[in-house]
Amino acid sequence: MTDLRSGRGGIPDWLEPMVRFCSRCGGELAFGPIEGEERERLACPSCGFVCYVNPRLVVTTLPVTESGEVILIRRGIAPGLGQWAQPGGFLEIDETVRDAAIRETLEETGLEVEPGAIVGLYSSVPAAVVVVAFESRIVGGAPAITRESLETRLFAPDAIPWPDIAFETSSRALRDWVARVRPDLPSPDPSTIHRPFVG
Ligand SMILES: [Zn+2]
Repeated sequence: MTDLRSGRGGIPDWLEPMVRFCSRCGGELAFGPIEGEERERLACPSCGFVCYVNPRLVVTTLPVTESGEVILIRRGIAPGLGQWAQPGGFLEIDETVRDAAIRETLEETGLEVEPGAIVGLYSSVPAAVVVVAFESRIVGGAPAITRESLETRLFAPDAIPWPDIAFETSSRALRDWVARVRPDLPSPDPSTIHRPFVG
Protein backbone atom coordinates (compact mmCIF):
# COMPACT_ATOMS: atom_id res chain seq x y z
CA MET A 1 0.00 0.00 0.00
CA THR A 2 1.17 3.51 -0.77
CA ASP A 3 2.56 5.56 2.07
CA LEU A 4 -0.27 8.09 2.26
CA ARG A 5 1.49 10.84 4.14
CA SER A 6 4.55 11.03 1.95
CA GLY A 7 3.19 9.44 -1.21
CA ARG A 8 -0.22 11.05 -1.67
CA GLY A 9 0.29 14.62 -0.70
CA GLY A 10 -0.49 14.34 3.00
CA ILE A 11 -3.92 12.74 2.71
CA PRO A 12 -4.69 11.22 6.16
CA ASP A 13 -5.91 7.65 6.59
CA TRP A 14 -9.49 8.67 7.41
CA LEU A 15 -9.84 10.49 4.08
CA GLU A 16 -8.01 8.00 1.90
CA PRO A 17 -10.94 5.60 1.22
CA MET A 18 -12.93 8.52 -0.22
CA VAL A 19 -10.33 9.40 -2.80
CA ARG A 20 -9.26 6.04 -4.18
CA PHE A 21 -11.25 6.05 -7.39
CA CYS A 22 -12.22 8.59 -9.99
CA SER A 23 -15.68 10.00 -9.29
CA ARG A 24 -16.15 10.64 -13.01
CA CYS A 25 -15.20 7.30 -14.58
CA GLY A 26 -14.40 4.92 -11.73
CA GLY A 27 -10.74 4.46 -12.66
CA GLU A 28 -8.10 4.20 -9.97
CA LEU A 29 -6.58 7.57 -9.07
CA ALA A 30 -2.82 8.06 -9.19
CA PHE A 31 -0.70 10.64 -7.40
CA GLY A 32 1.75 12.57 -9.52
CA PRO A 33 2.58 15.69 -11.52
CA ILE A 34 -0.23 17.43 -13.40
CA GLU A 35 0.34 19.68 -16.38
CA GLY A 36 -0.14 23.31 -15.41
CA GLU A 37 -0.18 22.58 -11.67
CA GLU A 38 2.55 23.57 -9.27
CA ARG A 39 2.15 20.57 -6.99
CA GLU A 40 1.55 16.87 -7.47
CA ARG A 41 -2.07 15.81 -7.22
CA LEU A 42 -4.38 12.84 -7.34
CA ALA A 43 -5.69 12.43 -10.86
CA CYS A 44 -7.33 9.83 -13.06
CA PRO A 45 -4.99 8.35 -15.68
CA SER A 46 -8.01 7.26 -17.75
CA CYS A 47 -10.05 10.44 -18.09
CA GLY A 48 -7.79 13.18 -16.72
CA PHE A 49 -10.09 14.16 -13.85
CA VAL A 50 -8.12 15.92 -11.10
CA CYS A 51 -9.26 15.09 -7.55
CA TYR A 52 -8.57 18.11 -5.34
CA VAL A 53 -8.39 17.14 -1.69
CA ASN A 54 -8.71 19.89 0.89
CA PRO A 55 -9.00 20.01 4.67
CA ARG A 56 -12.51 19.85 6.14
CA LEU A 57 -14.06 22.18 8.65
CA VAL A 58 -14.88 20.85 12.11
CA VAL A 59 -17.28 23.10 14.03
CA THR A 60 -17.09 22.98 17.82
CA THR A 61 -18.40 24.89 20.81
CA LEU A 62 -17.22 25.57 24.31
CA PRO A 63 -20.56 25.69 26.16
CA VAL A 64 -20.12 27.85 29.24
CA THR A 65 -22.43 27.84 32.26
CA GLU A 66 -23.59 30.96 34.09
CA SER A 67 -20.98 30.27 36.75
CA GLY A 68 -18.21 30.17 34.15
CA GLU A 69 -17.55 26.45 33.80
CA VAL A 70 -17.05 24.83 30.42
CA ILE A 71 -18.85 21.65 29.40
CA LEU A 72 -16.74 18.88 27.92
CA ILE A 73 -17.76 15.41 26.83
CA ARG A 74 -15.91 12.14 27.32
CA ARG A 75 -15.88 10.77 23.83
CA GLY A 76 -17.81 7.59 23.15
CA ILE A 77 -16.42 7.11 19.66
CA ALA A 78 -13.02 7.05 18.00
CA PRO A 79 -10.87 9.01 17.56
CA GLY A 80 -10.12 10.05 21.11
CA LEU A 81 -12.39 7.38 22.64
CA GLY A 82 -12.61 7.79 26.42
CA GLN A 83 -10.92 11.19 26.43
CA TRP A 84 -12.31 14.68 26.86
CA ALA A 85 -13.12 17.17 24.12
CA GLN A 86 -15.56 19.93 23.38
CA PRO A 87 -18.66 18.97 21.36
CA GLY A 88 -18.32 19.35 17.62
CA GLY A 89 -18.25 17.71 14.24
CA PHE A 90 -17.98 18.17 10.52
CA LEU A 91 -19.86 21.00 8.86
CA GLU A 92 -22.57 19.55 6.62
CA ILE A 93 -22.99 20.71 3.04
CA ASP A 94 -26.41 22.31 3.67
CA GLU A 95 -25.81 24.27 6.85
CA THR A 96 -24.05 27.37 8.09
CA VAL A 97 -21.21 27.23 10.60
CA ARG A 98 -23.54 28.60 13.26
CA ASP A 99 -26.20 25.96 12.48
CA ALA A 100 -23.55 23.25 12.74
CA ALA A 101 -22.35 24.55 16.10
CA ILE A 102 -25.88 24.42 17.51
CA ARG A 103 -26.69 21.01 15.98
CA GLU A 104 -23.47 19.26 17.03
CA THR A 105 -23.69 20.57 20.58
CA LEU A 106 -27.28 19.40 20.92
CA GLU A 107 -26.47 15.99 19.45
CA GLU A 108 -23.49 15.39 21.71
CA THR A 109 -24.53 17.02 24.98
CA GLY A 110 -28.31 17.47 24.97
CA LEU A 111 -27.78 21.21 25.44
CA GLU A 112 -29.15 24.04 23.36
CA VAL A 113 -26.56 26.75 22.88
CA GLU A 114 -26.29 30.22 21.47
CA PRO A 115 -22.88 30.48 19.76
CA GLY A 116 -21.01 33.67 20.63
CA ALA A 117 -17.47 34.79 19.93
CA ILE A 118 -15.01 32.61 18.09
CA VAL A 119 -12.31 31.53 20.54
CA GLY A 120 -10.02 30.51 17.69
CA LEU A 121 -9.46 28.70 14.44
CA TYR A 122 -7.04 25.78 14.56
CA SER A 123 -5.40 23.92 11.70
CA SER A 124 -4.31 20.34 12.11
CA VAL A 125 -2.28 19.47 9.03
CA PRO A 126 -1.83 15.76 9.93
CA ALA A 127 -5.58 15.31 10.45
CA ALA A 128 -6.48 17.49 7.43
CA VAL A 129 -9.03 19.48 9.40
CA VAL A 130 -9.57 23.08 10.42
CA VAL A 131 -11.37 23.40 13.75
CA VAL A 132 -13.37 26.46 14.69
CA ALA A 133 -14.30 26.85 18.36
CA PHE A 134 -17.18 29.10 19.44
CA GLU A 135 -17.65 30.14 23.03
CA SER A 136 -21.35 29.53 23.58
CA ARG A 137 -24.06 30.30 26.08
CA ILE A 138 -26.35 27.53 27.26
CA VAL A 139 -29.96 28.51 26.57
CA GLY A 140 -31.86 25.26 27.05
CA GLY A 141 -31.86 21.49 27.12
CA ALA A 142 -30.31 19.28 29.78
CA PRO A 143 -26.96 17.46 29.87
CA ALA A 144 -27.46 13.99 28.42
CA ILE A 145 -25.45 10.93 27.55
CA THR A 146 -25.63 10.46 23.83
CA ARG A 147 -24.43 7.99 21.24
CA GLU A 148 -21.22 9.94 20.91
CA SER A 149 -20.52 10.75 24.56
CA LEU A 150 -19.89 8.57 27.62
CA GLU A 151 -20.16 11.46 30.06
CA THR A 152 -20.79 15.19 30.12
CA ARG A 153 -19.07 17.20 32.82
CA LEU A 154 -18.47 20.79 33.93
CA PHE A 155 -14.91 21.99 34.31
CA ALA A 156 -13.79 25.23 35.93
CA PRO A 157 -11.05 27.06 33.99
CA ASP A 158 -8.49 26.00 36.61
CA ALA A 159 -9.55 22.33 36.47
CA ILE A 160 -9.27 21.42 32.79
CA PRO A 161 -8.07 17.78 32.55
CA TRP A 162 -5.12 18.66 30.30
CA PRO A 163 -3.50 15.20 30.14
CA ASP A 164 -6.80 13.62 29.09
CA ILE A 165 -7.83 16.03 26.34
CA ALA A 166 -8.38 14.05 23.14
CA PHE A 167 -6.99 16.35 20.47
CA GLU A 168 -4.25 18.87 20.11
CA THR A 169 -6.72 21.32 18.56
CA SER A 170 -8.95 20.93 21.66
CA SER A 171 -6.03 21.64 23.96
CA ARG A 172 -5.23 24.76 21.97
CA ALA A 173 -8.85 25.98 21.99
CA LEU A 174 -9.18 25.38 25.73
CA ARG A 175 -5.86 27.08 26.41
CA ASP A 176 -7.02 30.16 24.46
CA TRP A 177 -10.38 30.14 26.25
CA VAL A 178 -8.77 29.89 29.70
CA ALA A 179 -6.34 32.70 28.79
CA ARG A 180 -9.35 34.83 27.91
CA VAL A 181 -11.60 34.16 30.89
CA ARG A 182 -8.89 33.65 33.52
CA PRO A 183 -5.78 35.54 32.39
CA ASP A 184 -4.44 35.20 35.93
CA LEU A 185 -4.03 31.42 35.55
CA PRO A 186 -0.70 30.03 34.34
CA SER A 187 -0.63 28.30 30.94
CA PRO A 188 -0.73 24.51 31.24
CA ASP A 189 2.68 22.90 31.34
CA PRO A 190 3.21 21.51 27.80
CA SER A 191 4.62 18.29 29.26
CA THR A 192 1.25 17.57 30.91
CA ILE A 193 -0.61 17.72 27.61
CA HIS A 194 -1.14 14.23 26.30
CA ARG A 195 -1.53 13.97 22.54
CA PRO A 196 -2.49 10.48 21.48
CA PHE A 197 -4.17 11.66 18.32
CA VAL A 198 -3.37 14.68 16.23
CA GLY A 199 -6.89 15.97 15.67
ZN1 LIG B 1 -11.59 9.11 -14.51
